[in-house]
Amino acid sequence: MRSKKGVLVVLSGFSGAGKGTVMKRLLEKYDNYALSISATTRSPRPGEQEGVSYFYKSVEEFEQMIKEKRLLEYAKYVNNYYGTPKEYVISKLEEGKDVILEIELQGAMQIKDMLPDTVLVFVTPPSAEILKNRLIGRNTEDMETINKRLARASEEAEGMERYDYILINDELEECVDDLHGIIQAEHLNMKKNESFVSKIKDEVKVFAN
Ligand code: 5GP
Repeated sequence: MRSKKGVLVVLSGFSGAGKGTVMKRLLEKYDNYALSISATTRSPRPGEQEGVSYFYKSVEEFEQMIKEKRLLEYAKYVNNYYGTPKEYVISKLEEGKDVILEIELQGAMQIKDMLPDTVLVFVTPPSAEILKNRLIGRNTEDMETINKRLARASEEAEGMERYDYILINDELEECVDDLHGIIQAEHLNMKKNESFVSKIKDEVKVFAN
């Protein structure tokens, strides 16, 4: 038996750690996940699509969303705004879906403060060298941006211990199965099953001497 409300999962990790690939595979392989699509002011990369990869906004539009409190959290990352639209996340959790947010560290901390039941997962490649090679190899950013993202990785590494779980993205299928396992275990977390716990505690009282 599982808790009925969905689990909110935050997936963070260095740029180039493979978070996007892990999530895509998780959604293909298992049911019951909903992926939150963020709003951003950065330009689309080749192959990215409005409403699939991100909702692309101007700075003015993004600041309007902040003003209207339509974002659960937001942060600036390498000169652009990124934020999580609130309504989708809340409604999917109520439906019982496990909702995944792929966001950076500052946003992750805002979410954990607001919703302490959130599970924080940090994805990392097996080594720094692999990280750099992946960022260069995907050919989507110029060298200046890559260096900024690598510098940001060294800052984000300082916050890794604030996460609940670490996922080492070496072999994709294993990494995806580990993530699924973490989330399934969270459904059995004692605190997430308070109503069942109080029901069974009441029921067994009849056996008391
Ligand atoms: P990218 O430009 O590579 O798509 O994303 C850059 C960083 O922004 C990544 O670390 C990604 O996880 C993070 N990010 C994406 N969406 C959001 C969001 O809605 N909120 C926050 N705080 N970070 C986000």
